[in-house]
Amino acid sequence: MKILVANLGSTSLKYRLFDFSGENPELLRRGGYERVTDYSAVIDDCLKDLREAGALRSDSDLDAVAFKTIMAKGVSGCVRIDETVLGAMEAWSRIAPAHNPPYVEGIRVFSRKMPKTPLVALFETAFYQWVPEAEARYAVPDDWYRLGVRRWGFHGASHKFIAERSAELLGRPDVAERTRTLYSGDKPGPVDGPTLRVISCHLGGSSSVTGLRNGVAIGNSFGTSPQSGLPQNNRSGDLDPFALLHVMREKKLSVEETERVLSTESGLKALSGGDNDLRDIKTRADTGDAPAQTAIDVLVAQIRHWIGAFYLNLNGLDGLVFTAGIGENNPWLRRRICTGLDELGIVLDPSANEANLAAEGVVSAPETPVSIMIIPTNEELVVAREAHRLLANPA
Ligand code: ADP
Repeated sequence: MKILVANLGSTSLKYRLFDFSGENPELLRRGGYERVTDYSAVIDDCLKDLREAGALRSDSDLDAVAFKTIMAKGVSGCVRIDETVLGAMEAWSRIAPAHNPPYVEGIRVFSRKMPKTPLVALFETAFYQWVPEAEARYAVPDDWYRLGVRRWGFHGASHKFIAERSAELLGRPDVAERTRTLYSGDKPGPVDGPTLRVISCHLGGSSSVTGLRNGVAIGNSFGTSPQSGLPQNNRSGDLDPFALLHVMREKKLSVEETERVLSTESGLKALSGGDNDLRDIKTRADTGDAPAQTAIDVLVAQIRHWIGAFYLNLNGLDGLVFTAGIGENNPWLRRRICTGLDELGIVLDPSANEANLAAEGVVSAPETPVSIMIIPTNEELVVAREAHRLLANPA
């Protein structure tokens, strides 16, 4: 079975083609496009690339296209996409304005081009199905809760990959195996060995921290929307709701204008005074630029805040993982995050930390209690595997 995973951004399409005919899924081809204005043209181009590379014999050689979708009203998990699912995504487009509209548009183009090919969605919220209610609820009226006002959690595919891989690296294949089948089964029971406690920091264009007990998420820094939690590149992260009401009244902002500022003019971009790429912010901070330094200070403080919250709920820690563009590539940021945590067992090995760029490895000091790891994430593999499981075992 060949499954194409399509990662749709508002102006990008990245893809990976997996083959499930062997014992383990094999990555046959990957590629992508930036500055996309016409999904139809790039989808044609993508399929042509897969045929010309010999990865597909024809379009009918493709068994499914799978998508790492964000959220939908009343739908989570891994599902076949139909009009009901698309309608549920559209119903929550305003909660995820940067994510749901491009996915809905791109999926519709795929379904027009290949009406016979199954399309599958793995929602990012799916990984948080076992989060305890006390960690997921906000203190709002019940009818708000029923409108979806609660902590959902996102980056589920990435944190799930980290849960599996970190368990393997920590010598716990039992936990890795259990995590691999987590979406499909009933509530996971206890494990035989000691409890495995991991905190996963996905730090990139958007960032989140997740606590993992025996590979199962106990919470995530994101809340109701992907604009919440840590400061994102240009999205605000957490904000007191009364601050919002205050600003809307004082500046006489419309809902649309407020949404635009929160989702495109906030986050690191607002704090630094214009830059949203951490590389540019760091370059400015190194020359003494105060707003750039503040942006970094706030990001570090918020990451530490969430590590602290999960450390407590996990009652200690075995593994601390850094992943995604920022987490994998910036030893100086990892150093800032881990400074002064030796009493908690979190101690970097300075040379391993500096040497380890975007490659898997352990960067903690020898003989310290917490293994600090760099693990390049592989969200597409998680999506492809879940789509394969769904299609191979139809209900
Ligand atoms: P996205 O969330 O859009 O997939 P990434 O995970 O690639 O994005 O994260 C983008 C962030 O990662 C940017 O802020 C950028 O500064 C940082 N980043 C990416 N690559 C590097 C690198 N080679 N060195 C330093 N920082 C990097």
